[in-house]
Parts: sequence; structure tokens; C-alpha cells
Amino acid sequence: MVSFYPGPSRVHDEVPRWTAEAAKKGILSMNHRSMEFMHLAEDTVLRLRQKLNVPRTYTVFFVSSATECWEIIAQSFVQRRSVHCYNGAFGEKWYQYTNKLRPGAQALRFNLQQPLDVEDLVLDREDVLCITQNETSNGSSVAPSTLHAIRTKYRAPLIAVDATSSMAGIELNFTKADLWFASVQKCFGLPAGLALLICSPRALERAEAIGERDHYNSVLFMREMMRSWQTTHTPNVLGIYLLNRALHKMRVIAETGAITKERAKAWFNFVESLPALQPLIANKNVRSSTVITVSGETTYLEKLKAAAKRKGFLLGNGYGEYKTTTLRIANFPVITDREINSLKRFLKGFKA
Ligand SMILES: *Cc1c(COP(=O)(O)O)cnc(C)c1O
Repeated sequence: MVSFYPGPSRVHDEVPRWTAEAAKKGILSMNHRSMEFMHLAEDTVLRLRQKLNVPRTYTVFFVSSATECWEIIAQSFVQRRSVHCYNGAFGEKWYQYTNKLRPGAQALRFNLQQPLDVEDLVLDREDVLCITQNETSNGSSVAPSTLHAIRTKYRAPLIAVDATSSMAGIELNFTKADLWFASVQKCFGLPAGLALLICSPRALERAEAIGERDHYNSVLFMREMMRSWQTTHTPNVLGIYLLNRALHKMRVIAETGAITKERAKAWFNFVESLPALQPLIANKNVRSSTVITVSGETTYLEKLKAAAKRKGFLLGNGYGEYKTTTLRIANFPVITDREINSLKRFLKGFKA
């Protein structure tokens, strides 16, 4: 079965081999206070900088999930107010969880067929602006130029970006925001249970001014530990090892991102050529490159998904309000051209 699910997604072919290697090397019971772990953590952060262009000045933290990042940001970085711009289910969940921890969060819904309108945004110095760069639920995305325009208009507020289904798939300019996060079971092509939280120096200064120290995952404690390449709790050491192996193998993100964009363009052209299907996102400027969301008639989609499964292709269900009217196809780096071509052949030949 080839998984085209947009998370958890197809993993690197080498994951079984890397895992066996980890067992042999004693990684599975490695002490997280040992020198060996500290070297592994340090090397992994170094590779992230090399392969994904994470700036030297930004601090990388190992956490367990993107959902945990929502919580950490609410606890440690939001003092007065968070402002959430979203058009889909993940952005909305982020808003809801934050609002429970820090009541008074502001929700700004925008149309999924339109770019986020920077002119509509009014932010105070102390706000945290929360943006879902790639909305996995519907396949819309916020363009780099939009993030750039927001940063240019607002220097003072913190900008937090959920890049869970785009980091390691497309090139991101980390300098245009303060907090970035992603879990590894999407574009990284790794098993779930590990996520990265990447913080600008300004974000950490803000956290220091707020001084929140009530949780094991308060960012100030995490930073204290990360100074010696450690974590506040026993982390997913195997997950970090697999990430390290994957990063060593990975191309630099400029190359991967260009391939992802090309493949996405080809996917959209292909979908548009099929009579029964069309891209959910009509506006090319806000289409995700990593999650291809396709709409069609509900019974047709059901038959298509079932037939695909029999042929060995796992397609993603629609999500939330688009559950029955769309399906989603991951366009993640570890999926091979051969796999994509055979799925396209199947889709082209399918008769309901
Ligand atoms: C998958 C996803 C999440 C949740 O990730 P977890 O690792 O399960 O917490 C959050 N945001 C977006 C955009 C996602 O795609």
C-alpha cells in the first residue's frame, strides 16, 4: 500500500533499516542526559540549519507534536492577546485551544479562495499573530509574500506560523516570523511522535519578559535545558535519531521545494484534466503545494477511494466540513515519481 495520506504519511523507505540500526547501536535505551544524546541533539539541530535554512540565531526545540506547540505558544508567549487568521479546521483548533488557556483570543476567519488580506489586520505591539501557513484540512496556503508583507507592516508583534504540513516540503523564510513549528509525520516522512518548535531571539526575549514557569514545557525551562542539548522530559530519542538520519540524506530545501512546486503544478493540471474532479482551491495563488485537495461528487469520491485502496493507493479523506466532498493527496518529498505516475494512471482510468 502506498500512502498518499497527508499525515501520518508515507515514511522514508529506510525507516526500518534506520530503526534496526538504532537498536543495534543502543539508541533505543539511550540515556537522555548522556553525552551521546547531547551529540545527537546538537548534530540534528546543525543539520536542520544546513538543510532547511533555519537561521543560526533561532533556537530549535524538540517537542512531541504540533498540538503541543499550540499549547506552548499560548502558555509562554501570549500575555495579552493572540490573533488567529484562519480558514480551516487546524487554524480553528489552534484558536480554540489558545482561547481556553488565554481567554480573549481573537479569530479572524478569511475566505479560503482569497489571500489573507494584510490591510484588514490591526495588531497591537504585544499581540501574537497566529497563522496556519499550510491548512492541511482544505489545501489552502498563505504565500511567502503575504508573510513578508505582514512582517513589513508589523515589526513588534510576534508572528507564529503553523507549518506542520509544509516544513521540509517547501522553502520557508524563517526570518519572516518568530515562531515556527511542525511535526515530523507529514513532509519529513517520519513516524509520528516528534515535532520541532523554532523560536527567534525576539520571541525568547518576549518569553523572558512574560516569565511563565508553570509547566514542564514552559519555553524558559526548555531553553535552559537546550543550552546543554537536553530536554525537560525524556524525549522521543528514536524519533530524533530517525530525524537525524533523514536530514543527513535530505537535499537542501531550495532543491526539494522546487521539486515540490513542480510536482504540485503537474498535479493540479492533471486534476483539472479529469472530468469528474477539480481542485477545491480555485485560486492558484493560495493553493498548497504539499496537500492537493480535490473536490467531486460524494458517492463518486467514495467509490474512487475504495477502488484506489484495492489497487494499493491510500488516498486521504476530506477533513472537517469538506469530509465527504473532497479527498486529499499528499505531495510530500518521500513519495516517488513512480508512485505518483501510477496513481495518476489509476485516476485517469477509473470509471465509477
Ligand atoms: C497535522 C497538523 C497538526 C497537528 O499535528 P500533531 O502532530 O498531530 O499535533 C496541526 N496543524 C496542522 C496544520 C497540521 O497539518
